[in-house]
Amino acid sequence: MIVNNSLDEVNKREASYKTIKNIINQDDYYLYDLTGLSGGFLADINDLDLLQTYIGPSVFEEEIQKYGKAHMGGEKILAVNRTSSGILASILALVKKNTNVLHFLKEFPGHPSISRACDLVNANYKEFININNFEIPDNTSLLVITGSTMDHKVLEEDTFKKLIDMAHEKNIPVLVDDASGARLRTVIFNQKKATDLGADLAITSTDKLMNGPRGGLIAGKKDLINKIQVKANQFGLEAQAPAILAMINGLKDFDGRNLLNSLSKKEELLNLLGSSYGMFKESPTGVMVQKDDLFREVSKKGEINLSPEDICFLWSKILLKKEHIITIPAVSMPGASTTVRFDLSSKDMDNLEVKSLFNKINSSFEYLLSVVNNLDKVKSIIYLQ
Ligand SMILES: *Cc1c(COP(=O)(O)O)cnc(C)c1O
Repeated sequence: MIVNNSLDEVNKREASYKTIKNIINQDDYYLYDLTGLSGGFLADINDLDLLQTYIGPSVFEEEIQKYGKAHMGGEKILAVNRTSSGILASILALVKKNTNVLHFLKEFPGHPSISRACDLVNANYKEFININNFEIPDNTSLLVITGSTMDHKVLEEDTFKKLIDMAHEKNIPVLVDDASGARLRTVIFNQKKATDLGADLAITSTDKLMNGPRGGLIAGKKDLINKIQVKANQFGLEAQAPAILAMINGLKDFDGRNLLNSLSKKEELLNLLGSSYGMFKESPTGVMVQKDDLFREVSKKGEINLSPEDICFLWSKILLKKEHIITIPAVSMPGASTTVRFDLSSKDMDNLEVKSLFNKINSSFEYLLSVVNNLDKVKSIIYLQ
């Protein structure tokens, strides 16, 4: 096995950054970020004058409340450094030692920040995907619901409501991990905002399916947000002025029609992919290949000595190095999903024909097959720039 632990993942990620730097140093470079995580930083020159420690926040606080509430609902907004930081601050504030934290989602697994935060406070953490055998035991301090998983699997609105009712019957607060869901569920699936469905807290990631910076926004009940804010400040988890500025501009810029446009591109790509591969699945705004499906497809050509995860990292690296396409496994944080996803709502799809993306998928996959059993080569592709 090639990528075995968090340190290996950090190393593969740093090598990808070097590759990206080499690519953008070329004249007339082309690079397509199809992660759906743009990390955009929209700001104009006048905004930049406001970026001083105490001046910026006094201006931005009002605006982030206004645009954050329009996007997420709720009584109050708290901007944090990442969705993971928001989850951590919430769990530090609301969960006591030896109590249960239940997490319901459409498909395993939940984002690792939730279980890791529960470990820190010594809570009992458990994930569920089946509403029929889901019960909330006494001694539960928090119900987490993921609106859309890391692989964009979206929970039905009916289930959402049932879960919220079940928790509220026992006076247990509900936190929705709506990292991508705050846009995916509402725009593509026509669902309500999590706070409008009754959730006490919802958190979204400002760089997922919108042109914002990597950051998190928590919305919800004022008294809970105030408690979370104390923890966020104590541990330095709150967003700083430059990020908040870019969040505000990202929220102002957000237009659901861009997400809806990706649907026709997806149709076109699915037609091209046709029956040549058995591994592609639809995602709400594109296509994706999950690790076991990729493993099976590659195994058709003979036995392989890599894990399903390794093959995801390898293909993602080949896409980056040979085709200049960024997908998540090449650049992700340790523990993130290894699914290779092509998000057609990404801004860079404006510069890439669907037909040309199809050709790049084909050639990168052929190359993958040609190197998969050469372990030295695989290591150099994953760990060297
Ligand atoms: C991306 C994601 C997160 C974490 O977001 P970060 O900005 O990386 O902290 C949490 N939960 C889900 C469901 C996600 O998709």
